[in-house]
Amino acid sequence: MRNICVIGAGYVGLATSACFADLGNRVVTLDIDEEKIAKLREGVMPIYEPGLEEMVRRNMAAGRLRFTTSYKDALADAEFAFIAVGTPSGVDGEADLRHVRAAVESIADVMDHRIIIVNKSTVPVGTGDWVAEIVRKRRGEDADFAVVSNPEFLREGSAIHDFMNPDRVVLGSMDREAAHQVAQLYLSLRCPILITDLRTAEMIKYASNAFLATRISFINEIAAICEELGADVKEVALGMGYDKRIGHAFLDAGLGWGGSCFPKDVKALAHMAVLHGTHPQLLQAVMDINRNQRRRVVLRLRRLLGSLDEKVIGVLGLSFKPNTDDIREAPALEVIHLLQIEGAIVQAYDPAAMEAARQVLQNVRLCPDPYAAAEGADALILATEWNEFKHLDFRRIKALMRQPILIDGRNIYDPAEMRALGFQYYGIGRGNWMNHLQE
Ligand code: NAD
Repeated sequence: MRNICVIGAGYVGLATSACFADLGNRVVTLDIDEEKIAKLREGVMPIYEPGLEEMVRRNMAAGRLRFTTSYKDALADAEFAFIAVGTPSGVDGEADLRHVRAAVESIADVMDHRIIIVNKSTVPVGTGDWVAEIVRKRRGEDADFAVVSNPEFLREGSAIHDFMNPDRVVLGSMDREAAHQVAQLYLSLRCPILITDLRTAEMIKYASNAFLATRISFINEIAAICEELGADVKEVALGMGYDKRIGHAFLDAGLGWGGSCFPKDVKALAHMAVLHGTHPQLLQAVMDINRNQRRRVVLRLRRLLGSLDEKVIGVLGLSFKPNTDDIREAPALEVIHLLQIEGAIVQAYDPAAMEAARQVLQNVRLCPDPYAAAEGADALILATEWNEFKHLDFRRIKALMRQPILIDGRNIYDPAEMRALGFQYYGIGRGNWMNHLQE
């Protein structure tokens, strides 16, 4: 049993805390958000993440997990301080490190014994060295600490499962002994553990996210070509994916990638590249294609409906992907924004993100269920592929709509079935835009 402090009680921090506690460690989770910590102490989760609440409560009851807002308290016995605070985009696309800086300064101010500072936040290459510098500046050259980079690869919506079943754990440090000590925490997960230097570990995270975003933008570019040529991108991706060198993952054409990681991480990597004199032309294209995916849907609707002014558009799904309430950089929100610019009236429903949406969406009718979002609509856009949207009563939906136009932004429906029900069905890259344009 090791003593671990986790700084930041967000998606990553809470999953990390709950899982490390569940693996038998003593974990103290710290956040500067007092309201969040107060809720957590009562066993109430500030986010929606399947399986999290049960695991948190169980480990709190077993005395292995507790929450605090005090750095002194959190670090009193800590051998490891995992930093899991946010690193949002700054004005030029760079990663904004102010929360990381604040966390590191707070650690440095109270630490009175050797601590291994483990950075789980996604941070630009070179941040580990910068963290060490901050600590040395505040505590002197002989301060007893080590810095390890341990980028996190979990996905929202399956955070607990991903943490407990990682494809790999990446650890980077100039202090190999410290990296090996962190590795011990993961041994029972029986996955490959790659120990490398700090900068390489930091780059692995950015390169991985940028690669996944590239796959999605790639298939979306193929989808656009499919639309013109009458091929079905879903089958194209299936046929490609059987090739073991390619694989099936991240080849789903749709409204594109979003969320709290890909957009900011691809931007930050491109920013790093430019800052150091290289031209990230592929990354720029990957971002361009992604922006276009949202525009293309609105453009198609304009072609189908003429002016969108005063047209009622229903949107199913607001979170950036299923099984999360996270709406940061959600494709649905960008589509809604574009529709509103054109004067459309938007009504939307999401199974988990209504509360989050209420905070940021203006002039959108937030509906109690998917059918209300379809009622009186001139078109319905499926924006997030929640399971509950896969089995809707489409006869009822069609009867409720003013015009039976269905834009399947995630290609989850069977085109033939939807057309048989009387819908004008449009997927992404499913060879039917062209047919329509020829009609
Ligand atoms: P989040 O916004 O959900 O949570 C961050 C938390 O940190 C907040 O609760 C905030 O109050 C707290 N915080 C901010 N400053 C603090 C400070 N000085 N001291 C203590 N707490 C502080 O963030 P997240 O989505 O969990 O992401 C955290 C990091 O992990 C980011 O760098 C992100 O890129 C990376 N990451 C996220 C995911 C994901 O799926 N969300 C996956 C992999 C990596």
